[in-house]
Amino acid sequence: MSGENRCFDTYEVGLKIGIATHALHYGTGALGGLRGYVDETNPSQAILFRLDRHCQRLSNSARYLHYDLPADKIQAITIEFVKQNKPTKPFYLRPFIYSSGLGIAPRLHDIVQDFFIYGMSLGETFAKPNGISCRISSWQRQSDLSLPLRGKISGAYITSALAKTEAYAAGFDEAILLNSQGKVAEATGMNIFMVRQGKLFTPGTDQDILEGITRDSIMVMAGKLGIEVVERPIDKSELFIADEIFLCGTAAKIAPVSRIENYLVPQVADSITSKLQQELVAITQGQHPDYQDWLNPVDLQ
Ligand code: PMP
Repeated sequence: MSGENRCFDTYEVGLKIGIATHALHYGTGALGGLRGYVDETNPSQAILFRLDRHCQRLSNSARYLHYDLPADKIQAITIEFVKQNKPTKPFYLRPFIYSSGLGIAPRLHDIVQDFFIYGMSLGETFAKPNGISCRISSWQRQSDLSLPLRGKISGAYITSALAKTEAYAAGFDEAILLNSQGKVAEATGMNIFMVRQGKLFTPGTDQDILEGITRDSIMVMAGKLGIEVVERPIDKSELFIADEIFLCGTAAKIAPVSRIENYLVPQVADSITSKLQQELVAITQGQHPDYQDWLNPVDLQ
């Protein structure tokens, strides 16, 4: 474990990885990504959002890679890392499991594996409060027949990178990928929700999506707000007539969509999207008594 850097403001971490590192060539790694906040009422305390879920998902990713790394061990390392670094601003942590051996054949056996974690300051990632534009990608979300999509396997992100750059080159902010059945899967690093007639719809976990933790949070929050949530396959053409669309993920939180291809998404006052955004902010600021178990305090003193 290499968690010795003291660097929350830049990507310039002290860790160096050899050019022959297996994961670099074959994508045999898995990443986590979680947010933390400095407690506004008590700056000597940091708050990690849904730490247990993030650690469990990373531990599951490790299992796919035949690496035994229990969730409670990842959790202890993460807490220790935050204690050592004493963040002063909202931050993002990137724990990473990878084949650190130098073998030249893609495999998961007989190869050394390792774990590191680094962090950075992270405020809002989408500086477009009125919404982002999305393109339906020509690239398809991989199928679970090709790789375990419930893990955040690093090699899988080539598809996201292709889709994102394709969308960017065409003047859009983000891409929506369809799955092998032609149904809506997700964005390049975010899950998707749509509102139609007052109900929230999102593709189910059998639709080749990542089991996003923000997605899960939104479903719980919506339920408590009395908004019905339906998990079912979504057609591309349904997005064109949706009342609201938003993307969600740890880094972006809740990002409203204002245009999809050349179809505008209506901008409504008092939208379900904005209710959920406000709720999520209140929760992460510790203002919501119902969600205290989503917040993991870390004493920085
Ligand atoms: N899908 C993909 C492909 C992602 O990389 C992410 C970001 N981790 C998400 C969805 C959203 O997941 P989460 O809410 O857990 O960050």
